[in-house]
Amino acid sequence: MKGRRRCAVVVCAGLALGGETMAARPAREGGSFSILETLINTPGVSTREQAVRDRIRALLPSWAKADVDAKGNLLVAAGPEHGARTLLFIAHMDETGYLVKAIRDDGSLEVRPAGGFFETLYEGQVVLVHAAKGDVGGVVPPRPNYFEAAAAEAPSAFAGDAVRVELGVASRQAAEALGVAAGDPITIPKVFQRLYGSFGSGRAVDDRAGCTALLLALRGLEPKTLRNRVMFAFSVEEEIGLNGAQALAQSVHPDLAIAVDTFVSSDSPLERDAFAHAVLGKGPVVRAIDSSNITDPAIIDRVLSLARQGGLPIQYGLTRGGNDGSVFPEFGAPDLALSWPTVHSHSPVEVIHERDLDNLGALVRLIAERW
Ligand SMILES: [Zn+2]
Repeated sequence: MKGRRRCAVVVCAGLALGGETMAARPAREGGSFSILETLINTPGVSTREQAVRDRIRALLPSWAKADVDAKGNLLVAAGPEHGARTLLFIAHMDETGYLVKAIRDDGSLEVRPAGGFFETLYEGQVVLVHAAKGDVGGVVPPRPNYFEAAAAEAPSAFAGDAVRVELGVASRQAAEALGVAAGDPITIPKVFQRLYGSFGSGRAVDDRAGCTALLLALRGLEPKTLRNRVMFAFSVEEEIGLNGAQALAQSVHPDLAIAVDTFVSSDSPLERDAFAHAVLGKGPVVRAIDSSNITDPAIIDRVLSLARQGGLPIQYGLTRGGNDGSVFPEFGAPDLALSWPTVHSHSPVEVIHERDLDNLGALVRLIAERW
């Protein structure tokens, strides 16, 4: 209960102050939030992950040799080529957002969502179109009858064709002159915000936190001491159908696939704790069951005991959503999903606790070294 109340205060404070008076603490050198912040502030809507891939590559330890497959997944391998076992850790680089569908004659943009989210989250928000010549500012106008709706009946729908982006230009030619083209990705301005204590928030904590955990583990590994072949995959297009993972499952055949991704927790004041309850700040979570996978209880027990032996806090539970590892059982590899607990999933204000991320990185490393 304490955790829940604390979280509520944190989130309200973040919204009310809007960064105006909340001084951000300086990032701890080498701390997990400094990596997370760099990755979150880099846009990477599904199918447009290039900038995130470049950032991750720059953050790899010097020994790591990175390969990019035909689909765009970034892969790093460590340990003996014919090790005792092959483990594949996978975290996705992409995030939900919009893609430009078409430019109208009046210069406004028709858009289509990439991934699943409530489109009302973008209503009345500033966005950036990440065009070839550079970022172009835009706004998502609120639905036309929002004034009347406040006083009268239900507002009109805000989805599909009702969502558009205005750039301040008055013609298609003017929008094109800014470099905007069909297919360009659109996000809100990417800003990681530190909150009270060790909480932080931003759009695409899912799954830049997973990418951060993999990077932390890689930076801590001594490749020569590994007895397993350990592969780290930073995947594309998870949010639009696990497409990057699908391609990997056909080319890499691990003994165990370990997805590192969000645990959508009910640790918030408006939700009941009967389902998906993992407390922010109390450690990484093993996703025993989610919408895409049921993990073998023996594997779960093994992770729990490894974590306890390693002195790491650990939680486990059931939640919604799928994970990249769920495409591997079809090819013979069981799927284990490891997470950090979050609230407000797929919104612009996903919240994470830094200690959970530190410990998730340590857990990935522990499994890589001792499985
Ligand atoms: Zn995710």
